[in-house]
Amino acid sequence: MTKYIYEFGPNKTEGDASQKNLLGGKGANLAEMAKLKLPVPPGFTISTECCNHYFDLNGRFPDTLEEEILNALANIESQAGMVFGDPGNPLLVSCRSGARSSMPGMMETILNVGLCTATIPGLIKKTNNEWFVYDAYRRLIMMYSDVVMEKAEQLRPKDGMGIRLNLEMMMNNLKNDKGYNNDTDISTEDLKALCERFKKKIKEDLKADFPDNPKDQLMGAIGAVFKSWNGKRAVSYRRIEHIPDTWGTAVNVQTMVFGNMGDTSATGVAFTRDPATGDNKFYGEWLVNAQGEDVVAGTRTPNPLNIDTKNSQNKHLPSLEESMPQLYTQLFDIRNLLEAHYKDMQDIEFTIQEGRLYMLQCRVGKRTATAALNMAMDMLEEGTIDEKTMVCRLDPKILDDMLHPIVDPNAEKTAVKVAEGLPAGPGGAWGQIVFTAEDAVQWAKSDKNVILVREETNPEDIEGMRAAAAVLTARGGMTSHAALVARGWGKCCIVGAGALKINVETKELRVGTRVFKEGDIFTLNGTRGMVYQGQLKMKDASENVRFKAFMSIADKYRAMQVRTNADTPADAMTALDFGAQGIGLFRTEHMFYGADSDKALFLLRKMILSKTHEEREIALEELFPFVKEEIKATLQVMDNLPVTIRLLDPPLHEFVPQSRENQQEIADALHIDIEEVFKRSEQLLESNPMIGHRGVRLGITYPEISHMQVKAIFEACAELIKAGKNPMPEIMVPVTCNEKELAFVRDIVTQCHDQALKTYEIEALPYLYGTMIEIPRAALIADKMAEYAQFFSFGTNDLTQMTFGFSRDDIGSFMNDYIDNAILSFDPFETLDQEAVGGLVTTAVERGRRTRPEIKLGICGEHGGDPESVIFCHKAGLNYVSCSPYRVPIARLAAAQAAIMYSDCR
Ligand code: PEP
Ligand code: MG
Repeated sequence: MTKYIYEFGPNKTEGDASQKNLLGGKGANLAEMAKLKLPVPPGFTISTECCNHYFDLNGRFPDTLEEEILNALANIESQAGMVFGDPGNPLLVSCRSGARSSMPGMMETILNVGLCTATIPGLIKKTNNEWFVYDAYRRLIMMYSDVVMEKAEQLRPKDGMGIRLNLEMMMNNLKNDKGYNNDTDISTEDLKALCERFKKKIKEDLKADFPDNPKDQLMGAIGAVFKSWNGKRAVSYRRIEHIPDTWGTAVNVQTMVFGNMGDTSATGVAFTRDPATGDNKFYGEWLVNAQGEDVVAGTRTPNPLNIDTKNSQNKHLPSLEESMPQLYTQLFDIRNLLEAHYKDMQDIEFTIQEGRLYMLQCRVGKRTATAALNMAMDMLEEGTIDEKTMVCRLDPKILDDMLHPIVDPNAEKTAVKVAEGLPAGPGGAWGQIVFTAEDAVQWAKSDKNVILVREETNPEDIEGMRAAAAVLTARGGMTSHAALVARGWGKCCIVGAGALKINVETKELRVGTRVFKEGDIFTLNGTRGMVYQGQLKMKDASENVRFKAFMSIADKYRAMQVRTNADTPADAMTALDFGAQGIGLFRTEHMFYGADSDKALFLLRKMILSKTHEEREIALEELFPFVKEEIKATLQVMDNLPVTIRLLDPPLHEFVPQSRENQQEIADALHIDIEEVFKRSEQLLESNPMIGHRGVRLGITYPEISHMQVKAIFEACAELIKAGKNPMPEIMVPVTCNEKELAFVRDIVTQCHDQALKTYEIEALPYLYGTMIEIPRAALIADKMAEYAQFFSFGTNDLTQMTFGFSRDDIGSFMNDYIDNAILSFDPFETLDQEAVGGLVTTAVERGRRTRPEIKLGICGEHGGDPESVIFCHKAGLNYVSCSPYRVPIARLAAAQAAIMYSDCR
């Protein structure tokens, strides 16, 4: 019999923190905290395995589950001294989801399960607090009808108005009619009547009775939490975070403790260090007389936990430290204990019930990139963690934030301020404001920079938040949904900008007398919480001393080199600043696209549209000095470092002039009629250019093109050598599929090399000769390719294209359908498909080395900057990865982490 249930609590705990896969993060940590003898209300975790079985059984519980639940409940009952469903002494429980890795706000929670007509009087008698019982009941009704009766049943609400919104509106109307400011002001009688009206509304809208039996409530809640794993927003989140569908969620059923039992009760969320800056300061928010999600939902502005947490928005509110000093001290001690135990910043949830503290959750806290860096370095310096642990503490992806722009402080001095909020997500961003998640997605699709402005965000906004350059909310604290999600992604975000009066209907917002409309431009400083009008200048944030120190420690552990894909001296310099150890891909064609390339492009076009060998030779001769200068400039910047120069790759028709003016210019230069230009251009058109006349094939048909390029490379090198430099060129032939292609081009290379030695009267011109491996055939015959190639560079963009047969330029039209239908769990052009494309890479590595053990192996496709793919490259035994300049630090860190985690792979 499979064991599905694992208990935790003061008397008996079966799991621990190492069992996240089975118990989910929340369940595993509840068990760990119970083992640490922290005040954890007793409960049990239903495993993720059970969730998967539930789906295998088409939404039915495994047969043995109910009995296991009843047994576990009996154990909780005896510890809590209450009985689930007992009219005199009722136990209430919470039911919370908890996947392996935290998915903030993505899945469901139901509190106060077990309250019903039969148990309400007993609880009132026991607590002597009728208001509290009806407040708990109305919360149960609101959560349960939404999660279990509507969402889990996949009922689609009319006009998007779900039951929860309807019930919230009823409650707001009541508050307005009676002049209640806060939920806590509603009288007991009004609450009671509201609960009755809620149940009527549920019956009307959902055509079902609100369950009045504790066991039905519990089983319904458990099933709904399982189902929420496949809810729309959980699925969206998983796609973005590459979390596999097969993980499933656990369910935690736990004795309720109540933060809403009056002024000696409270609930709060805290971080053991500041999640925005990383400062070693206890940081958090709390609310008196509140329950569960109130702090996170932003319904009331939360109070600061302590002096350290006070800011301009909450400084007038009392801190826990001031209001309940003894409990604060107890919580502070727990904070210290958890940090010492986990050796990492924890995000904790606590509840105080009538002066007693309970711990409801702890997990590794999400943090900004800056905070992650500071915490890791601080903990190393404090001696809490060692270097390897420190290196593995930063998710390489979040380095992006540290390298991406901040608002230029000078521009900020004179900027027009719109509002101020809490600095929830770092860095700066500007964009046009939009008021719905759908608009954010749509506008971003048409390449607009947008800022999503919301009253507060909820998990339904996830796609819009993703698409936006930044997120701005009028309500919510540092632990609100918007803040958590944005921080997790390292996205610029400001929350709780209370001055904003947003009207989603009219798509405008007011700040005092000023009105801003959809499409107006704002700039956000997410590090300071400032919102400005218009587009401000941004500044590079790469000069961070601590970051450099961190990276140099990481570099000590790396087994692979990290190079960059760069085609200009400027890009090469940026990459050098980021720590690149060479160029892994210099795409020669790019010298015809960039700034000041008009003349070179004109000469290239002249060459392309030449008809005879003689015409082409003349055009190539004119082109030669440009090519040589470009190559020389980059080799000069990369002195003493290897530079892989790829011979011309794209099909020639890509360069054919399109405008009449350019066509006429070429016609004049070639002394032909413009009609002849049209004709020659048409002849170059191909049905499938990506598998057409491109790459090495151009050099086979027109050896003179390769000849010109190779000659330019050697002459550039010779001149640099004469000037006392040390160029290290690697000549790379693209799109090869046959070793004889390599033999063909090698003859040209050898000839140009020997000629340059003579022309410049120098003794040696060191170089390497190699090829891209980007066609499956080339990977499979890598042993033969290695007879000629001294290095392989895996061009995984084309290799992916040709392995899947997916056009890399056209996947936009169907990739989402593949992801949505879980046919693929990620876009293989972003993250390397290890199964098949990776299989070709490892085959080529093995076969290439068989022929030439010292062969140099690298990757230069986009995957070279993707952390998961970098780890694969380490395991595959590559010598280097190459990626765009801004991704160099990401690749460096990913490579260091790979070497630490998989030291036995090479
Ligand atoms: C590749 O195919 O992976 C590659 C790097 O070349 P390009 O993207 O220029 O085709
Ligand atoms: Mg390619």
